Amino acid sequence: MPDDERAQLSRLIRRVRVEPGRKVTLPADFDPGDTGGIAGRAEAEPHLERGLELLARYQDRLAAQATHGVLLVLQALDAAGKDSTVKHVMRGTNPAFVRVHSFKVPSVEELMHTYLWRYSVRIPERGVIGIFNRSHYEEVLVVRVHPELLERQRLPAEMRDPDVWRHRFEEINAWERHLVRNGTRVVKVFLHISAEEQRRRFLERIDDPDKNWKFSAADVRERRCWNDYMHAYSEVLSHTSTRWAPWHVVPADHKWYSRLVVSALIVDTLMDIDPQYPRPSEEERRALAEARAELEAEQPS
Ligand code: AMP
Ligand code: MG
Repeated sequence: MPDDERAQLSRLIRRVRVEPGRKVTLPADFDPGDTGGIAGRAEAEPHLERGLELLARYQDRLAAQATHGVLLVLQALDAAGKDSTVKHVMRGTNPAFVRVHSFKVPSVEELMHTYLWRYSVRIPERGVIGIFNRSHYEEVLVVRVHPELLERQRLPAEMRDPDVWRHRFEEINAWERHLVRNGTRVVKVFLHISAEEQRRRFLERIDDPDKNWKFSAADVRERRCWNDYMHAYSEVLSHTSTRWAPWHVVPADHKWYSRLVVSALIVDTLMDIDPQYPRPSEEERRALAEARAELEAEQPS
C-alpha cells in the first residue's frame, strides 16, 4: 500500500484513540458529530471502498496463516449503529472466516459461571475475525447502571462492595492482555452518538413500519439513564484503554464517518499482523511435484 494511504489510516485512527491512562469525561471530551475534516459522504465513499478492498485481501491471508485472530468489540448506546456497522464494514469479507455474536441478557446457565465465561467461549479462533455486538464491557456498563443485575450474578458476599468495578477493570485488562499475547488482537470501539441524534433515530424507528422491529419500549427507558451511561462509559474509557487494547471513541452521528473509521481500524490491525500465505516446506514441495505428475499422467489423449 502507498505510504500516503497508510498515513491517512493513521490520521483517522489517532483522532479517535484514547491514550492509555487518560481520564475521559463524556460527552464533553469527544464530539459525536465530528467527521475528521471530511466534507461529506461523497468524499468518504472512495476511501471506504478502498478500505473494504484491503480488508478482504488481508482477511484471506489472515485465514491462510491461521496464527492470529481479530476481535472487534462494538459498544454503544441504542441506535448508535452497531448492527449497520457490521453490515456495511464486513460486506466484502468471506463469511466463512467471520463470526458475529450479539450478547443479550445473560441466561440462567451463564449466570451460574463467572462473568467472563460466556465471552471466553466466543473468542474467535486463529484466522478468524470475530465481532462482539455488545461484549464483556456490558458487565461494567448496564450492570453498573442497573445494580439489580449485579444482584442476579450470585457473587460471594465479600465481592459485593464498591470495589467491584475497579476489580472488574483489572480483570478485564488482564484477560485482554492474555488474549493479545496469545494471538488474538482486540480492537475496541465505542460508537459515540449524541442524545439528539438518538432521539431522531428512535422517532424514525417508530414512524417507519419497516423499522418498528428495531425499537422496543425498553429503549426509551434506557435513554432516561443517559447520564448514568455517560458516567459508566467515562469510567470504562479511563480505566480500560491499555497499550495492548486501546479504546476508540468513534463519532457516530454520521454513519458514513463511523463506518470509515471502523474499517480503518480493522485494516490497520490486519496490516500490523501482516499475515502471509504459508509457503510449502521442501517435503511439501516434493509432494506437490508428485501430485502434479500424477494428474498430468491422467490427461486425456
Ligand atoms: P439489543 O442489543 O438491543 O438486542 O439488546 C440486548 C440487551 O441485552 C440490552 O438491553 C443489553 O443491555 C442487555 N445485555 C447485554 N449484556 C448484558 C449483561 N451482561 N447483563 C445484563 N444485560 C445485558
Ligand atoms: Mg436495542
